[in-house]
Amino acid sequence: MGQKVAFTTLGCKLNFSETSGIAHQFEEAGYTRVEIDEGADVFVINTCTVTELANKKSRQAIKKLIKGNPSAKIVAVGCYSQLKPDEVAAIEGIDLVLGSENKFEVINQLQQIEAEGKTRVIVSDAGKEKTFTPSYSYGDRTRSFLKVQDGCDYYCSYCTIPYARGRSRNNSIVQTVAKAREVVEKGIKEIILTGVNIGDFGKASDENFFGLVKALAEVEGLERLRISSIEPNLLTDEILEFVAQSKVIVPHFHIPLQCGTDNLLRLMRRRYTTSLYKKRVEKIKSLMPDACIAADVIVGVPGETADEFEKACSFIDSIDISYLHVFTYSERENTMAVKMPNQVPLNERKSRSKIMHALGEKKQRIFQEQHLNSSRQVLFELQEMGGQMFGFTDNYIKVEIPYNKELVNTTANVLLETVTDDGNVLGKLNI
Ligand code: SF4
Repeated sequence: MGQKVAFTTLGCKLNFSETSGIAHQFEEAGYTRVEIDEGADVFVINTCTVTELANKKSRQAIKKLIKGNPSAKIVAVGCYSQLKPDEVAAIEGIDLVLGSENKFEVINQLQQIEAEGKTRVIVSDAGKEKTFTPSYSYGDRTRSFLKVQDGCDYYCSYCTIPYARGRSRNNSIVQTVAKAREVVEKGIKEIILTGVNIGDFGKASDENFFGLVKALAEVEGLERLRISSIEPNLLTDEILEFVAQSKVIVPHFHIPLQCGTDNLLRLMRRRYTTSLYKKRVEKIKSLMPDACIAADVIVGVPGETADEFEKACSFIDSIDISYLHVFTYSERENTMAVKMPNQVPLNERKSRSKIMHALGEKKQRIFQEQHLNSSRQVLFELQEMGGQMFGFTDNYIKVEIPYNKELVNTTANVLLETVTDDGNVLGKLNI
């Protein structure tokens, strides 16, 4: 048995797909992948820096592993390492710090450390990242996150991601389809497209996102393709009309709104207005009435007066969206927003977050209840909890039924019956 390696991932779907990519490299190099609490020779942490809290959690995860595994090699890769390499390198016991461009070089760099016997820190110039390393998650989930794009050129006022992940870049459609085929060959039924600004796909290859989804929908054996998060200004009519007629691409759209008034969208340098957002929602619902539309919302951005917040809530309440992901604004160094006037006090941000969460729950409940007493295809996952198993419908409703091993990683027709207290839908198999 080769050396043992274990991984922990913080943050987004993209990070999970990249951790799987790095793990794959270790397995190919003869390492054995083990769980984080089983003890290993090497530990890799894929860090996140989207908020100050994410930085703190990354530091805590690193320190915990160093304390629990004094003789192991501890490696921190990813966005926090890229933005704050000195802070990470200053943690006593860390062996290797790799930024966004270098996170797939862990094994080579570990060999260097063996030779030099001291901490190595390698990060690229922020914004200068050029390479695109494809990756996808598998083995630990029924569905796979396929990385199709990295980086972002938008520089929204509150966001550090362009500084942590660099400029927008991608592989060609042909190369991306080849990766999707690899995923399907591993028995995965559903691919979820992931990246930072996936709608911007194609900039580096003179292609576009519409071309990509058309090509991926042709991948033999692929049962489901889920677009996941895409900017409203990049979700074009032709993409929506194509999804509406597709048997493979599921009717689920995650469209970041962030702010619910045009004044705040302008301040945050978002590239659309509330009217464009509303038109996207109406277009989707006119083509696919059962479609699920999720929105990211940030509360408490600079300039969000009580009146603006109220307007934002009534705008969100007025549009037919299915659930919200609510974030509380967090100051990020080097962003435009941190220097803006009219910063919202933290306790006020917290109380607005509660209000927005409640609005999100109301929206989700309405969406779930609209689909009760109807049948939908559910892709069942590995997990068993309390004698139940879980899966998602095509339009992203989480369903639970009594556990049946035969159904793992298969799609089955399920009658949606009732909404459970913990927000899932109880289903009954349609035999
Ligand atoms: S689109 Fe804006 S919020 Fe999203 S990653 Fe790019 S800069 Fe950040």
